[in-house]
Amino acid sequence: MTVLLDETFPRTIDELTRDLADDEVRGARVEAWLFEGAAARRAAEERLATAAVNARVRSAYKPLVHFFLEDVDTRELRRATIAYPVREPAPEGRFLVEAYPLAALLSEVETRFVPGGPAPVYRVELEYRNGTATHEVFVPNDVRIDHLGERRLSPTGWLRIAGSRGGVRDTDRRLETEYEKIFRRAVEAIQSHPWRAQEPQFEQLVIRAEIPPGERRLPVGEECISTAEAMHEDLYFSVLEVFKHRAGRTVDDRKTRPGQIIPDVRYTDGVPRARVAVEPFAAAEPAQPAPVALDAADRAPSLAQVHAELAAIGGRPFSAVSRQGRTVPGVYRAGTRPAIVVTAGQHANETSGVVGALRAARRLADAPGAHFALIPVENPDGYTLHRQLCAVHPRHMHHAARYTAFGDDLQSRTEEPWNEKAARLEAFRLSGATLHINLHGYPAHEWSRPLTGYLPRGFDAFAIPKGFYLIVRHHASWAARAESFRTQLTERLARIPDLVALNRAQLAGYGAHAGAPPFPLYHDLPVQTVEDDRAATPLTLITEFPDETIYGDLFALAQTVQMQTVLAAEEIHAALDRAR
Ligand SMILES: [Zn+2]
Repeated sequence: MTVLLDETFPRTIDELTRDLADDEVRGARVEAWLFEGAAARRAAEERLATAAVNARVRSAYKPLVHFFLEDVDTRELRRATIAYPVREPAPEGRFLVEAYPLAALLSEVETRFVPGGPAPVYRVELEYRNGTATHEVFVPNDVRIDHLGERRLSPTGWLRIAGSRGGVRDTDRRLETEYEKIFRRAVEAIQSHPWRAQEPQFEQLVIRAEIPPGERRLPVGEECISTAEAMHEDLYFSVLEVFKHRAGRTVDDRKTRPGQIIPDVRYTDGVPRARVAVEPFAAAEPAQPAPVALDAADRAPSLAQVHAELAAIGGRPFSAVSRQGRTVPGVYRAGTRPAIVVTAGQHANETSGVVGALRAARRLADAPGAHFALIPVENPDGYTLHRQLCAVHPRHMHHAARYTAFGDDLQSRTEEPWNEKAARLEAFRLSGATLHINLHGYPAHEWSRPLTGYLPRGFDAFAIPKGFYLIVRHHASWAARAESFRTQLTERLARIPDLVALNRAQLAGYGAHAGAPPFPLYHDLPVQTVEDDRAATPLTLITEFPDETIYGDLFALAQTVQMQTVLAAEEIHAALDRAR
């Protein structure tokens, strides 16, 4: 094991309360913005009040949403007009996204968002049943040069003091909090390490961050404000970008293979800490949870259950081996209908497709003539990591579990060694399929990277959920067929109870904060249609259910939608083949 960093950081809120409980600050007006939950901020205000310091401690993360949660009595509110800052070098809509999910939180209020000026404030006009009020909500940000050398406007801590004795302590300045220091030091330690040029550079790179509590569930869908999740996301993608940059690749590259990057972010009431270490893979397989009844599954099944379910389907087994030595299991069943390949778990933190694929295969196995190959979990190493990360934060999106233990997206591999992808290639070879149904998911709640510009770089369109949607890829010669396929499929899927309601609710939130859906709607389902002659099959259907990470009735709906999509697509594909 090599330790790259092991450092503790004073908790900024503690430093501040000690430092400000001072005669010179007595009677002054103090405002601070920190990456802290409400409980710690209120406690700090009380401690300072006992020293006769009039302080207000606010959240540096999503300050406008916190303003409405903590400062506004919305019961008497009728109308809200919010002018959001438009400030270089951030893209125009950045602060509107950061205001999410306010439109839904204020569902009883007539809310209007308009672009404002470059000042770092939201100008808020509130109209109550009897009277009006105007507020300027400060949104502390500063421009920092990130690990790629890009200028990013990012949230930061801030301190304002006015009216101190003789003005000696008056200030209005950036305050780099422990939250920002932990991120900066971890990325610097990794960036400056003398990595060898040859990939993979490590088995696991574990970044343990212990930060102050900052989790708050919101009464809107699956929304949750979480500084731990935001730190996980920013550490994971930033570190992956560091290795892409070293390899001379672009940020949207998916072939970089540094190894498995694992941000392990925990809340602590103790001393904040960052520890970065290169570690070997775990020797033992983690304990497997009890099986779930597949038809009513409200969560992802264990890998052991996936193997058992696949064996029960019958047919000709095939497999590949992952980087960590796990089996990527598949099954092939010959039939007289047009062949399809069904895959799930390519991105292993997207779990609803795993259940949907297995349930669909059970039904297809009973359907006369059905001809298919199935790989329910293409990325078992990521799937195992997802379960481990969920043991600490069950509902986070956990993108560290997205790619393989090499660090790459298995779909992007174009040469040996194939490892996980060998199973998919075998499925195409055995079946000769003309349709590949590739089941995916994406975050079920807001995805942010507050330490590097707020919006998730390269994934801006996924920052806010926009319902269940589809991607149809087709060879140029299949354009007309793809159009019929898309029309019939969306018409069938729109009949699933609760699906259209979910899509309408999420598209409304997306519309208020991110604009029009990026793809045209067919029966309330967004569909992106892409001509792509390089695809292995003339027709590819990719599903995207906002399933990172969900449980209960919503998971049951998600996996049922995934199953119904496979079954409907198989039937429509066969009918279109007959009509040819
Ligand atoms: Zn995916």
